[in-house]
Amino acid sequence: MTLLGPVEVRALAEKLGIRPTKKLGQNFVIDGGTVRRIVRVAEVTPEDVVIEIGPGLGSLTLALLPEVARVVAVEIDPALAAQLPLTVAQMDAEHAGRLTVVHADALKVAPDDLRTGPGEVAPAPGGQDRSETPAALPTALVANLPYNVSVPVLLHLLEILPSLRRGLVMVQAEVADRLAAAPGSRIYGVPSLKAAWYADVRRAGPVGRNVFWPAPNVDSGLVSLVRRDPPETSATREEVFAVVDAAFAQRRKTLRAALASWAGTAAAAEEALVRAGVQPSARGEQLGIVDFARIAENRPRP
Ligand code: SAM
Repeated sequence: MTLLGPVEVRALAEKLGIRPTKKLGQNFVIDGGTVRRIVRVAEVTPEDVVIEIGPGLGSLTLALLPEVARVVAVEIDPALAAQLPLTVAQMDAEHAGRLTVVHADALKVAPDDLRTGPGEVAPAPGGQDRSETPAALPTALVANLPYNVSVPVLLHLLEILPSLRRGLVMVQAEVADRLAAAPGSRIYGVPSLKAAWYADVRRAGPVGRNVFWPAPNVDSGLVSLVRRDPPETSATREEVFAVVDAAFAQRRKTLRAALASWAGTAAAAEEALVRAGVQPSARGEQLGIVDFARIAENRPRP
């Protein structure tokens, strides 16, 4: 497998006139060992359709293509999006047919933008009609995410793609800690809870700064996600997330106080909390996503 090293990354960036920007979180991986490790830890299989967000110059894409059925790569930068198929055709012609590049903002993509592959056309029983299955939706997310939008991108994809069974993402180390934090810890908060709605989330190892060009001024970390069913509740996801947002907008306050405007009054908040079996004097950081689902379910109706 031929991968991009420091020389190739710089040469490609120069050819394209790319000056990596902080705004788009452009730090490109220049180390083959790191992309191989990401693919290994992601545990992708030859059946997986992988969505990669922010493929950049293709460092990770080239490591993914030989291992999976297809890769759909979503890149916001037009020059990078246009170059990627050319780079792959040149460096790994054998697997180039597995790649679909989507030039788009990952925060705005919809499922139909992400279908890939030919779709199957099967003869129907009796041989007259034919039934068509649409092209496949992604089953795994593997990405070195743009750091400034990593959490919203992750939550957006988990929301719009129920087909995603697992994920392995590289994010800023601090964000990795937040995503994987458990109730009771200082860094536990909105990202931890919202990610926990969709998946079991855990840290999957540290990554240093020198594997990137340019080197970022923060450490990075890998996060693994395995989809599971959301908590059983009569409340909708939006209703549960509204309680989470309200609780952490004033995270030092007791839930009775923090949820006052969500419930109407502090007394109404207390009533909802008691009905949900939660101490009104507790703070949001002590509760799990199941508790928040119960609170949402018990919101006082006018
Ligand atoms: N995957 C490449 C690698 O590991 O070398 C590049 C990763 S770099 C951290 C992030 C990439 O995401 C850049 O290529 C950047 O242009 C792209 N990007 C930034 N914001 C984006 C967005 N909202 N949607 C899609 N791509 C985005």
